[in-house]
Amino acid sequence: MRTMDVVRAWGRILAGRMPSLSIEITRKCPLSCPGCYAYGQDHLGAGEPINQLREFEGSSLVEEVLALVDFHKPLHLSIVGGEPLVRWREITRLLPELDKRGIHTQVVTSAVRPIPLEWKHVQRLNLVVSIDGLQPEHDKRRTPATYSRILQHIRGHSITVHCTVTRQMTRQEGYMREFFAFWSAQPEVRKIWVSLYTPQMDEKSDEMLPADVRARVLDELALLKDAFVKLELPSGLLKAYRRPPLYPGRCVFARTTHSFSSDLRTAVMPCQLGGKPDCRQCGCIAAAVLEAVNRHRLPIGIRTGTIYDVSRVLGLRLKALRRVNTERPLRKQADADGVRSLRNPVRNAG
Ligand code: SF4
Ligand code: SF4
Repeated sequence: MRTMDVVRAWGRILAGRMPSLSIEITRKCPLSCPGCYAYGQDHLGAGEPINQLREFEGSSLVEEVLALVDFHKPLHLSIVGGEPLVRWREITRLLPELDKRGIHTQVVTSAVRPIPLEWKHVQRLNLVVSIDGLQPEHDKRRTPATYSRILQHIRGHSITVHCTVTRQMTRQEGYMREFFAFWSAQPEVRKIWVSLYTPQMDEKSDEMLPADVRARVLDELALLKDAFVKLELPSGLLKAYRRPPLYPGRCVFARTTHSFSSDLRTAVMPCQLGGKPDCRQCGCIAAAVLEAVNRHRLPIGIRTGTIYDVSRVLGLRLKALRRVNTERPLRKQADADGVRSLRNPVRNAG
């Protein structure tokens, strides 16, 4: 993150705004990954499940997304799904508009279909392709977005590989090294990110990492972090994975990101994962990166997170104060109009 981005994010927080926005641009997806949180029963809390939610397409999707963006004025926008490439035509229209607004956009995709080549020219785009393990495990989990399709569909692009470590990937020694070696060798790959599978509360699934396995994976990642240039795994991130935020109220990611589902109205709470995620087992890279920043101590001995907390409270108070100041003259005007209308009911009627 550049200094300018930090200053701009801080400015947003001081203005009582959240610097990030995440949008489930469609509820449709041709994959059916085991453990997918988007299609979980509780993803949208007590509301309708995502597959019954309204969604937009064509020009109305483009207009609605831009209206949402112009209202929230985020610095960073994550476009997720369902599968965003279901709406590749609309995203192709949106990306230059977002770029013009100076917004850093991230599209998270399975690369199940060709990625439009026009996207290459968008300056502030990070194209993130989810690849969960080596070919046998990945293809089983994410068909039809198989290795062979991904390799074809990313041609000509510059991508970030995002791997979510599941239990299935931890049974073979040297697995992660082999994975990093394979994807580091692909010229289209710019960066490699690693998340750990995050379960919902009381979940029992084959994807979950038991505590001892999670600790072993993190030890292995600590040994590999400097072995591959494209692998982005700073030690602060690994520390955050070892000690994730205890609950959503302590998670900087959840507190700085507005997430909306496919009707562009329904909020996804408490974070992008929705439902009731088990924060103590959180392995989400976005949460871990912000947690690492939160815990970072500045040379003056103050935690960055303390500055964030103070700025946020200050920002919310200033926002409330601004609202009072704009509402007061309006109320005075309304009161005066009310008095006039009482004095001269006929003139003001109709
Ligand atoms: S690609 Fe994403 S949205 Fe689609 S099933 Fe897999 S995890 Fe869920
Ligand atoms: S991102 Fe992780 S820590 Fe933050 S609220 Fe969601 S599950 Fe909890």
